[in-house]
Amino acid sequence: MLNIILFGPPGSGKGTQSANIIEKYGLKHLSTGDLLREEISNETALGLDAKRYMDNGQLVPDAVVIGMIDSKLQQHPDAKGFIFDGFPRTTEQAVALDELLQGKGSRIAALISLEVPEEELKRRLLDRGQVSGRSDDNEEVINKRIIEYKNKTAAVADYYAAKGVHHPLKGNGSISETFQLIGNVMDAL
Ligand code: AMP
Repeated sequence: MLNIILFGPPGSGKGTQSANIIEKYGLKHLSTGDLLREEISNETALGLDAKRYMDNGQLVPDAVVIGMIDSKLQQHPDAKGFIFDGFPRTTEQAVALDELLQGKGSRIAALISLEVPEEELKRRLLDRGQVSGRSDDNEEVINKRIIEYKNKTAAVADYYAAKGVHHPLKGNGSISETFQLIGNVMDAL
């Protein structure tokens, strides 16, 4: 199994590049943001609870997202590998993910980190807000999401750096330039 974390702050291009990666490498895409938005549109209890955090730019509690990833891993026992997008977002989630993968005799092969300057992130997210319909793509919530990233999520890169699998990349070129850089890492694995 080949398991990759596509990492970076909100607006760094994780969703866009995940689509490119699954097309070229045939991995199963697991985005906790997409899974949570699906729960919200289905008006489940989990979705209604998660929405309060998401609309406020805060992370949803670890147990909720870990439980979602656990059940998705179980639903796809024959996957060639997974591309984790927007997960793990805390060190606790990273530890839980490692345990889940260990149970399958597997591990994270690489954390690919898309590095984009903050001003560019804000510009991209505001632009996306014009078309996405996402309730968290407005200036106030964007600022809160970036703070949440710095306070809780950035440490996940250090956690995987200590395991020797952190690959930081310049993420503010064009979509195809960034995909080329990701491909270089993927092809070397
Ligand atoms: P995203 O689509 O990845 O930008 O996620 C949108 C929102 O969903 C985030 O701002 C969080 O509120 C929530 N969320 C997504 N993934 C996670 C996660 N791994 N841990 C906690 N909250 C998450």
